[in-house]
Amino acid sequence: MKRIWLSPPHMSGCELKYINDAFDTNWIAPYGPNIDSFEHSIAKYIGIKNVTVVNSGTSAIHLALILLGVKHGDEVIISTFTFSGSVNPVMYQGATPIFVDSEKETWNICPDLLESVIKKRLVKGKKPKAIILVHLYGMPANLDRIMEIADNFNIPVIEDAAEALGSRFNNKFVGTFGKLGVFSFNGNKIITTSGGGALVSNNTIYTNKARFLATQARDKAPHYQHSQIGYNYRMSNILAGIGLGQMEVLNERIRQRRSNFFYYLERLGDISGIEFSVEPNNKYFSNRWLTTIIIDPSVAGATRNDLHSFMEKRNIETRPLWKPMHMQPVFSDCPAYLNGVSEELFEKGLCIPSGSNLSEGDLERVVSGIHACLQL
Ligand SMILES: *Cc1c(COP(=O)(O)O)cnc(C)c1O
Repeated sequence: MKRIWLSPPHMSGCELKYINDAFDTNWIAPYGPNIDSFEHSIAKYIGIKNVTVVNSGTSAIHLALILLGVKHGDEVIISTFTFSGSVNPVMYQGATPIFVDSEKETWNICPDLLESVIKKRLVKGKKPKAIILVHLYGMPANLDRIMEIADNFNIPVIEDAAEALGSRFNNKFVGTFGKLGVFSFNGNKIITTSGGGALVSNNTIYTNKARFLATQARDKAPHYQHSQIGYNYRMSNILAGIGLGQMEVLNERIRQRRSNFFYYLERLGDISGIEFSVEPNNKYFSNRWLTTIIIDPSVAGATRNDLHSFMEKRNIETRPLWKPMHMQPVFSDCPAYLNGVSEELFEKGLCIPSGSNLSEGDLERVVSGIHACLQL
């Protein structure tokens, strides 16, 4: 039986045309026409003024923190329920992540808890320097409330939309609500350049500074002259060619991932002990990057781990939900404000195969695997 992967790359076929253009014109560099076109294409799609493509989503978050002036000793609020790539750049800056737990509705940062945490940090005499707002698995966070809270306290928001390209809230694309937004084109994301990311903003000052920093912070001079620390973070013009081909099929990829979700919901939604994450109301539109299920072992008769190993034996890749950051050894000393939601999600949650290239037969194999494990 061929392996069914969780979220494999899915090329459109047009990528090679743009890669060949790069070779034909010898733009084998982190500059060039594919980069310009890829940036324009993202900007047009999500409706934002400026896009800077870089070598990873993690680099984009790092640049965003630098642009907001996050330095040694500063505090940055972030959802504990995320991938380490959201948090590592906070550590690169020598700042402290303040972890905040999730709400049940979207699994993203809980607005009530966020508000109380900001007040508590203010009482301690520390104003958080930024909020990193993650839209996990493609589900938009509660942007109405979170942007209102952030504005009230005048704290800038960086949206980590690494998993949520194409997701919308109130018909506006996520990644365009905060001062800065971040996307990832890693191999497992909804579209990929094999590795890459984007930093987006309506503020041209940020974008110009980001490009300067991402290309080793070279001052204007005929020789190499530097008055601050730079980074080598720009995307290659060859990889931008892959991105251009992928942008042509982004709408199709969203449609396919959402259709996986609805297939699973229809075939598994009635099983007692299995729950799906649903869009809380029609303001929310998720790209359904990954379909996730919550298994209640006392009702389903199997634990998340049972299901994971059972599917592995059938050569089907599944993955536990992200392990919360406050439970990670490397972040165990960081302050965390918890309500139990993320720990329960981690204990019971499983991501199931969600690639846009799954066949009907693959989907059927996943469903019958779950049925067999639960002895239905
Ligand atoms: C993938 C991901 C990142 C990091 O993106 P890379 O391109 O892999 O560096 C950051 N945050 C979240 C939530 C992600 O899923």
